[in-house]
Amino acid sequence: MANFKPVQQILPPPAAHMVGDGFRVHNFFPSGYNMDLKRMSPFVMLDYASKVEFPPTKTPRGVGVHPHRGFETVTIAYHGKVSHHDSAGNSGTIAEGDVQWMTAASGVLHKEYHEKEFSEKGGMFQMVQLWVNLPAKDKMSTPKYQALTHDKMGKYLLPNNGGEVDIIAGQLHGAKGSASTFTPIEMYNARLKKGSTLEINLPTNYNTGILIIEGSAKINEDKIATADHFVLFENKGTSILVEALEDAKILVLSGEPINEPVFPYGPFVMNTREEIVQAFEDLNAGKFGVLED
Ligand code: MN
Repeated sequence: MANFKPVQQILPPPAAHMVGDGFRVHNFFPSGYNMDLKRMSPFVMLDYASKVEFPPTKTPRGVGVHPHRGFETVTIAYHGKVSHHDSAGNSGTIAEGDVQWMTAASGVLHKEYHEKEFSEKGGMFQMVQLWVNLPAKDKMSTPKYQALTHDKMGKYLLPNNGGEVDIIAGQLHGAKGSASTFTPIEMYNARLKKGSTLEINLPTNYNTGILIIEGSAKINEDKIATADHFVLFENKGTSILVEALEDAKILVLSGEPINEPVFPYGPFVMNTREEIVQAFEDLNAGKFGVLED
């Protein structure tokens, strides 16, 4: 008998809201289901922009200049193209299958928007943004930026041409991820052909969830999850079985919890209220650098 991680709940997408004018997102946590900030630690926020068609525009849609401190923003593109600029001097554009892993740490200003050419043509848009918390000792480290293109990620190929898994972070059946992370994190983008089965082994204490991006899947031989749903697992057991009921894309998120107090406020995620006050003082003092609109 496999030692399955039991499915705690299969969450439908909460009502969508706009972030800026470019991101129509379902917030699965923390606000969507009033989830405790530590429930999915080190992941403290999951915004899912489900598929939506944007008409052509001359002015790229998105979110203007804003600050972050104390964590990382991880953006994963499924349809459309997203660009990023920050006050640490980093910028980049990601397309389908690519990931931007931005470490805000001690603080950056950044802006996030639809890539110019995509905006002019318009088209289908689908994306995920995660906020990954940093341990207290790394919250004030130097900001950095990892452009993780899908061609450079480790791949796990399922037997019998059953599909392919991009390892964004961590490792799966010997294939290694390309992200450098501050705490142990497993993150995979899997494309599964109908009828194929993927086995995932994870430590019992890791907080774990799967977002169904496309298609539908049977989890642990009995629970059925369809597109745009988030499968939350209990912190028990060590394995998950995902059987694609039709061609499916899934995002697997799992990580070792950071057992420290979490004090979030707006664009900051710190450990204490005092550190939030300090973040505003530093922002107002210009310590986050400069970025043009
Ligand atoms: Mn941001």
